[in-house]
Amino acid sequence: MFDLSGKVALVTGGNGGIGLAMASGLASAGALVVVAGRNAAKSRQAVDRLRGAGGKAEAIEADVTDEAGVAKLLEEGGRRHGALHIVVNNAGTSIRKPAHQMTLDEWHHVIDTNLTSTFLCCRSAYPWLARQGGKVINIGSMLSIFGAPYAPSYGASKGGVVQFTRSIATAWAADRIQANAVLPGWIDTDLTQRAREQVDGLNERVLARTPAGRWGVPDDLAGIAVFLASPASDFITGAAIPVDGGYSIA
Ligand code: NDP
Repeated sequence: MFDLSGKVALVTGGNGGIGLAMASGLASAGALVVVAGRNAAKSRQAVDRLRGAGGKAEAIEADVTDEAGVAKLLEEGGRRHGALHIVVNNAGTSIRKPAHQMTLDEWHHVIDTNLTSTFLCCRSAYPWLARQGGKVINIGSMLSIFGAPYAPSYGASKGGVVQFTRSIATAWAADRIQANAVLPGWIDTDLTQRAREQVDGLNERVLARTPAGRWGVPDDLAGIAVFLASPASDFITGAAIPVDGGYSIA
């Protein structure tokens, strides 16, 4: 039910943090994983790690904010292996400041990296996925649900990711493409290391509010990636699933 042998998966931002953990899960279930990111050295290390664990992996350098670059990424990813079955839109970034202090460039940078990239990757993936059916996994956030004073563009982008996911889930269901969003809670990665430095009291608030009593680790996201990429989830589409140690229900 969870076997991904013979499947080709593309994971944006798959060279670190949550993306690499999801890539590891997919590779351990048998998928060939293409990791896409800007930093070629980091991507090489990620591929070495995935292969070292017995997985099939390779890297393609790409900036997901670049329309032509995304088209090339999906075309190359699909053409190399003659198919593309799974796309994980995970690349993301954040700029933490309240709306009244945010420049338009900062706004666009976050929206382009988190939301527009998801649209671009899905649009270019569609012809490949529609050939045989497929899986789209988009990464939202607790800020798809909640507000935070320091996250106007990040929250808007992650709320948008959920609604975009619902849209393609309805549009592409007849093509046997399931599209779902994953909403990670607070996970210890480079991104949140910076948040802990920049947002006073964040660490304490996260620990106090999370019923599981700890920050998540990237590997906490590996299982949901396998589930949503596998036949086990064939009748689940348009869902937004928290993986948050209970943060969103407490
Ligand atoms: P990291 O900063 O560790 O990873 C972000 C990844 O995105 C990197 O691999 C980076 O690769 C890639 N990336 C960023 N910009 C681009 C770009 N323009 N083109 C291609 N790749 C890009 O963060 P996380 O692992 O924490 O975050 C991963 C996702 O999970 C993000 O969407 C984030 O919003 C989301 N998330 C994280 C949470 C957390 O607590 N950590 C909570 C909720 C959601 P490179 O530098 O090589 O381009």
